Amino acid sequence: MIDTHAHLDACEDDAAALVARAAAAGVERIVAVGAGIESSLATLAIADAHDAVSASVGIDPHRAASESGSTGELRELATHPRVVAVGETGLDYHYGADAKREQRALLEAQLELAEHVQKPVVIHCREAAADTAGALAPFRGTVVLHCFSEPELLPAALERGYYVSFAGNVTYPRSSALREAAVHVPADRLLVETDSPYLAPQPRRGRPNEPANVVHTVAGLAKARDEDAAELGRRTAANARAAFGLP
Ligand SMILES: [Zn+2]
Repeated sequence: MIDTHAHLDACEDDAAALVARAAAAGVERIVAVGAGIESSLATLAIADAHDAVSASVGIDPHRAASESGSTGELRELATHPRVVAVGETGLDYHYGADAKREQRALLEAQLELAEHVQKPVVIHCREAAADTAGALAPFRGTVVLHCFSEPELLPAALERGYYVSFAGNVTYPRSSALREAAVHVPADRLLVETDSPYLAPQPRRGRPNEPANVVHTVAGLAKARDEDAAELGRRTAANARAAFGLP
């Protein structure tokens, strides 16, 4: 299994312990994701120190007002060999509706950067499905829709061949619309993630999340799709290697 999205720099436990517990649970690799410049630097340091960790660097939409001037720094980080993707970036109108214009500009700058360095882009979308689909339309690279939570975005994702990554919220009792969406994602476009330390899957809900818990998301997805969990774990890991160019 591969956890394609964890904020290791935001977890309370140190990365060595998280990576060791993940390995013991059968998680062979973690894509650690930066949320801003400081966070991306910390994430890259973690990836440098752990063979099983790859990094993604980006500025998330919550920092659109404060860090939109930092794309030059991001540009330097994005070329680092341990960096496999640009993001997370995207649009969030739930928490950031007052900065829509800044969010869009920051997203477009990171799409341009991802095309320039020829690495995939990791997209966050909350209550902004139409604008996200619009912003991504001209993008020519690989798209990973992280913590997929907007079934409204599914038709564009399927049509354009985006990778769709499910997090712990797909295991929650009330998430039947998400499980329904998961059934429609082609087997070669499906990814799993934890989004640690957030969104712990149902059996661990209410506690800090960590990469080892991706096993519960795989189990929940396998049940929703009526597939074998071990096989789905292998398949999503192969998809992650293809999407991010992982070893
Ligand atoms: Zn995230």
